[in-house]
Amino acid sequence: MDLETLRKDIAARLAGGLETEVWPRAGTSEEVNAIVRRLQVEAGDDLVAKLVIGGFTDHTIEAEDMPQPCETCMYYKVHARFCDLPELMLPVEPEWSCRLWRI
Ligand code: SF4
Repeated sequence: MDLETLRKDIAARLAGGLETEVWPRAGTSEEVNAIVRRLQVEAGDDLVAKLVIGGFTDHTIEAEDMPQPCETCMYYKVHARFCDLPELMLPVEPEWSCRLWRI
């Protein structure tokens, strides 16, 4: 599946009501590490598990007065519209969000 097809597939799953672990957001490095560890152990290459554990949404989530869209995240590759976090490595849209968002 090419990246654009995969992006549309993810968008359809999110729009279709896939329940993901949006909260709690990863605030501390310990919380980040715990979620990353779950992605490594429980998700692996499984797309749905990545979306669920990552807490993906097809809209921007605001946490502690801070909007957390992919487009301002350190892992976002602007031109490719791609999440470069090693445990995710997924095509995304700029307004999407996940709980591993980092500046
Ligand atoms: S880590 Fe950043 S770029 Fe990747 S899905 Fe989460 S918010 Fe988007």
